[in-house]
Amino acid sequence: MSTWTLSAIEELFAQPWLTLMQRATAVHQAHWPTPDVELATLLSVKTGGCPENCGYCPQSQSFDTGLHASKLLPEDEVLHAAKAAKAAGATRFCMGAAWRSPKERDLEKMASMIANVKALGLETCATLGMLSPEQAQTLQTAGLDYYNHNLDTSPAHYAQVVTTRSYQDRIDTLAAVREAGIKVCCGGIIGLGEQQADRASLIAELVKLQPESVPINSLVPVPGTVLASSAPVDPLDFVRVIAVCRITMPKARIRLSAGRQQLGEAVQALCFLAGANSIFYGDKLLTTGNPDTRADDALLEKLGLRIVAPQAQAAPAAGCGCACGTPTAQPALA
Ligand code: SF4
Repeated sequence: MSTWTLSAIEELFAQPWLTLMQRATAVHQAHWPTPDVELATLLSVKTGGCPENCGYCPQSQSFDTGLHASKLLPEDEVLHAAKAAKAAGATRFCMGAAWRSPKERDLEKMASMIANVKALGLETCATLGMLSPEQAQTLQTAGLDYYNHNLDTSPAHYAQVVTTRSYQDRIDTLAAVREAGIKVCCGGIIGLGEQQADRASLIAELVKLQPESVPINSLVPVPGTVLASSAPVDPLDFVRVIAVCRITMPKARIRLSAGRQQLGEAVQALCFLAGANSIFYGDKLLTTGNPDTRADDALLEKLGLRIVAPQAQAAPAAGCGCACGTPTAQPALA
């Protein structure tokens, strides 16, 4: 059980930037002595047409972003993608769908996909929206290893971002996932108009959940969404968030997710110094752009970062709290 309180996390945020970086680097080296980075790839198995109104997400049917909605992919297509991912060295395959929550018929299809992806010898990950305890148990029984569902922001700022489901809905889903014995992937998005106090509060909530994976997204404003005109995030403030996550969740994989393309190489390098040790890899996050794989390979080589067995995660692009990790076009949010 972590002892990090909200006030202690706020004190971290108040430290001078360099002091915070030194502390984060020390924590990172103590827990992750070998400099490495885990690669995660997303596959959206059902894109767009989502009834939720997450203000950053092009997959929401509330916004006209020009995104073409599609139905759930047939299982043979998903398995084909999973085999290709495995052949490319992936060890995990993540499937994301832009749903409020899976309907029973969809859950059956997802359970079958998960079982058959698992049978290929891959770890499985999914982000499908809200789950009941029974649904989480069904997915666990099918062989699901990880579930992504993001908190997005602080409880206080949440209503400025999403109104179609509550913060408690998200906490309940994450509790159901944990209770079912599935590993938790949960993070948030920076740049939603939140204050530093909100960032501290988000991290305090994450610390309580002790996720195995913490995707941190930098908002990619998508024209047509409510948050299309959001002010850009100060890059050093984004690095500060990564550092605080590393210090407060030393054993978690901290993942740079949506918005990495906009950060550029130098800021990404600072994020790795601050403790990030996972990235979304591939040309597209659910629906938004991502650095191409050659650029990533070159950057990781320049930094001397060893690649941990690549993980293919299929998910929507923007950050569906659905975890869409959803890098849908956006914050993968996942
Ligand atoms: S972030 Fe996820 S839940 Fe929210 S609108 Fe997008 S697809 Fe739907």
